[in-house]
Parts: sequence; structure tokens; C-alpha cells
Amino acid sequence: MLEVDVLVVGAGPAGATAALNLAPMRRTALMDASAAPHERIGESLAPAARRLLTDMRLFDEFLREGHALCYGNRAVWGSAQPVETSFLSDPDGHGWHLDRARFETWLRAVAVRRGATLLIPSRLESVQRESGRWKVTVSTAGVPSEVSARFLIDAGGRAAPAARRLGSSRRDEDRLVCIWAYGCGSVIGRGAGFTFVEAVEDGWWYTAPLPGGRRVLAFHTDADLPAARAVRDVAALLGRASETTELRAIQADCGFRASGGLGVCAAHGSVLDPCAGEAWLAAGDAAICFDPLSAQGLLNALFTGLAAAEAADRYLSGVFGVAAGYMETVCQIHRAYRDRLEFCYRGETRWMSAPFWQRRA
Ligand SMILES: Cc1cc2nc3c(=O)[nH]c(=O)nc-3n(C[C@H](O)[C@H](O)[C@H](O)COP(=O)(O)OP(=O)(O)OC[C@H]3O[C@@H](n4cnc5c(N)ncnc54)[C@H](O)[C@@H]3O)c2cc1C
Repeated sequence: MLEVDVLVVGAGPAGATAALNLAPMRRTALMDASAAPHERIGESLAPAARRLLTDMRLFDEFLREGHALCYGNRAVWGSAQPVETSFLSDPDGHGWHLDRARFETWLRAVAVRRGATLLIPSRLESVQRESGRWKVTVSTAGVPSEVSARFLIDAGGRAAPAARRLGSSRRDEDRLVCIWAYGCGSVIGRGAGFTFVEAVEDGWWYTAPLPGGRRVLAFHTDADLPAARAVRDVAALLGRASETTELRAIQADCGFRASGGLGVCAAHGSVLDPCAGEAWLAAGDAAICFDPLSAQGLLNALFTGLAAAEAADRYLSGVFGVAAGYMETVCQIHRAYRDRLEFCYRGETRWMSAPFWQRRA
């Protein structure tokens, strides 16, 4: 049996961040069901990440990873005219368009370098509280083993695999899904260096350039609306994209050519209740899932990953009230996110009788 101070379940951005901050001080194990991060949607990193990466002494190393720079957002939202919000006026400067798999591989490697034990591929099977410790059963290639930990951090993403086993439940806030395709496209033209969104009657589009001359194209709508069922393959996605105005021009400008198949995933907001308890807490998407329109998910994963590490360290030092303080922090983040999101959706009033926009009015 492996004995540690802290077991972090999930080695995505939140879990790796928690582990790399804890490992120099506490015996830390970081486990993930997947042996290596794979390509996945979610690449726009907000400028404010600079402050968190600097606090964690990671910023210079992050820059050397060579992710693409993002100079701002452009949107067709609320009117047919594109509006640009440049990061020139942001005190944190520019943001980034990440190679997501490279970013997560790097965070895992930093956690290991700082002393964390990486258990991969290991799936969480069960959690029990015994004599003031967590007894966690993990399976590696089908073979079960046990980890004994004083503190547990659930950073297992939307599934919140540990917290759910401890009785927490998720409150879903809508039915948003994302349907996307990757492709290649020239790095020049009107889409270069910017994140772009365009509202349409039954949802909204997103496109962003990625490192290495790649680009992602994504459509967001509600799972129960006909539009979600209509986009069954890449050809249908491209067909619907060609009905837009500015997005179509960006695709044409960069000569977008889809490569690979269609991706579909849940993209709705949701919140875990409760997100902390005696000797455990949830970080990142396990605690709050953000509507991708906010582009705050990664920032929140880094922030709550760091906050989770600090809370775990305080708990292990004998400080009382750690769970309550952490829950209050997550509540504040959730309130601020909801206010901002509602403000953004209310900014689009062109299709007030369409179900997608009625639900968000
Ligand atoms: C469509 C879409 C677009 C997005 N776009 C953006 C964007 O542009 N910018 C942005 O900032 N955010 C974006 N996000 C949000 C962002 O991707 C997430 O907030 C971020 O991935 C959260 O990181 P995390 O570490 O909490 O969870 P995850 O990245 O989901 O990591 C969870 C990890 O836990 C592991 N795991 C799960 N279950 C188990 C188990 N039982 N045992 C062991 N391991 C397990 C998984 O393998 C995974 O590695 C987007 C999200 C969606 C859905």
C-alpha cells in the first residue's frame, strides 16, 4: 500500500497544479486514468494566468513551451458588426492559445520534478474513510491496489469521481453541448492571433488559431435543440459554419481544412454541492464547470488547484475551518462567473423568440 499525505485524483490542469504546489512540502501522489494527456478542446488561456504562473514560479518556463499568443477577442454578438476587445488595454497583457496536450504534459512533469508520485494510468475505484485516513482503491490496467492518504483532492473534472462517491451531487445550470472539429489553416488573415465568437439563432460559434498552423472550429447549442441533432459529421458542421457571416470569412481567409473527425462533449455550467468536507475538497471542473463562453475554466483550474494545495497544507498543519473557507472561495468565484455570464448572454437580443436565447434572457 502506498502511504501519502495527499492523494490528488485527476492530473488535468487543476490536479497537476495542486500536486506541484504540494509536493515540495507534503508526500503527494497524483493519479490519472489516462497515461498521457490527449488533444482536447479548451485552449484559450486568459491573460490573468500570467499572475498565477508567476506566483507558482512557472511563468518563464511556461513561456519557453512556445504556445501561440492571443491578442484579444473578436465577436459578432448583439449586432452583425464584429467588435474587437484587444488585450492591449488589459493590465496582464496578452493571453495564449495553447497546445492543450503539451500544456498538461508539462504541468504533470513539473509536479513529478517537484517530488510528486505520478500514478498512471490509474482509475479511482472506491474511497473509504478508516481511522482518520482515506483508503482509496485504484486500478492500474485492471489490477487493484490501495493508496492511504490523510487528505484527498478531487480534480477529476466534470465526473468528480471522488466527491460523488462521498455523496456530493452536481447542479446543472443549462444543457449546452459543444460540437467541434480541428483543422489546418494559415496563420495570417483576419482570424490570426484572436479568439472569435459569433452568435447565431440556435447557439454560437467559436474559432481560434492553435500552435503549429492548426485551428479549432466549434459550435455550441443546447443538447435538446434540433441544431444539436443536425450536426452529425464534419461536413454538416462545415455546412452550418458557411451560413455565418464573419466566421465564414475567417475560415475562407485562412483556408481552413478540417482534419480528423467530429468531437462532441458536454459544455454546460454546473456546480458541485458540497465541494469540500472533512479532509477532502474538489478543485477545477470537479468543483465548478464553466460555460466555455466565459473562457475561464483553465484559469479557475489553476486558481483552485493552488487554493486546494494551500487548504490541504493548512489542514495537515492542524488548522480548523479549512473546508468552510475553501467553500466560501468557490462560492464567490461561482457568483462572479454567473453575473458575468448572464451579462454576456443578455448582450445578444436579435433572436429573443428562439429557445436558445429565450432560456438565457
Ligand atoms: C467545449 C469546451 C471548451 C472549453 N474551452 C475553454 C477555453 O477556451 N479556455 C478555458 O480556460 N477553458 C475552456 N474550457 C474549460 C476547461 O477545459 C476546463 O475548465 C479544464 O479542463 C478543467 O481542468 P480540470 O483539471 O479541472 O479537469 P480536466 O481537464 O477535465 O481533468 C480531469 C482529469 O481527471 C481524470 N479523471 C477523471 N476521472 C478519473 C478517475 N475515475 N480516475 C482517475 N482519473 C480520472 C481525467 O482523465 C482528466 O485527466 C472548455 C471546456 C469545454 C467543455
